[in-house]
Amino acid sequence: MKDKIKISEIFYSIQGEGINAGIPSVFIRFFGCNLQCHFCDTKYAWNPTDTTYQELSTKEVVNKIMQFPLAKNLIFTGGEPALFQTAIRKIFKHLPKNQSFTLELETNGSIEIEDDFWDTINISPKLKNAGNLPYKIHAFDPNLTSKTWWKFVVEDKSDIPEILALQKKLTIPCSRILLMPLAKTKKEIEKNSPQIIEICKKFGFRFCPRLHIFVYSDKKAV
Ligand code: SF4
Repeated sequence: MKDKIKISEIFYSIQGEGINAGIPSVFIRFFGCNLQCHFCDTKYAWNPTDTTYQELSTKEVVNKIMQFPLAKNLIFTGGEPALFQTAIRKIFKHLPKNQSFTLELETNGSIEIEDDFWDTINISPKLKNAGNLPYKIHAFDPNLTSKTWWKFVVEDKSDIPEILALQKKLTIPCSRILLMPLAKTKKEIEKNSPQIIEICKKFGFRFCPRLHIFVYSDKKAV
């Protein structure tokens, strides 16, 4: 359908990860991703056999966002939302001008970010442990640096050399790097977090909770 975009889900919850963890937010989850991480907890947002997405116009997306009037933080996620930057621009255009929103992007870092209207950009480059072919992390516009945080899913300490190499190559301050445990259930979070906290302490990285998994485990729309 012309001018319609595939949206996996739009829902109101709290941000579960990253620097804004805990903030009530509307999530706009696009359908489609250019990677296929084996641990992906949102395969329903890109798996070609999944048909649970909706095709919506940008105005319809805005109408759904406005069903949650208390939520002023909008999180564009996926899948890979950077594949849909033209649609995101249109969504912003249709947001009511008499209300202020903060805008947050969650991306795997493989696609250049074209706009500077973001308040928070969460880049989560996928390590070898995700099982993809190696891909280039985009050099980011220096204007976006102060809004950018780097999140890594860590299985164990064997992932650290890869993170340090990237940190050096892209000159990312350690304080901008967040590590989160590879986990799909509350049990796995509890088991894997202590070792990730120790790694954070050693390198000056920030530990990143995954509140939605801790509270709801592997559930949709949370
Ligand atoms: S980049 Fe994100 S959405 Fe895409 S497959 Fe990996 S974890 Fe899933």
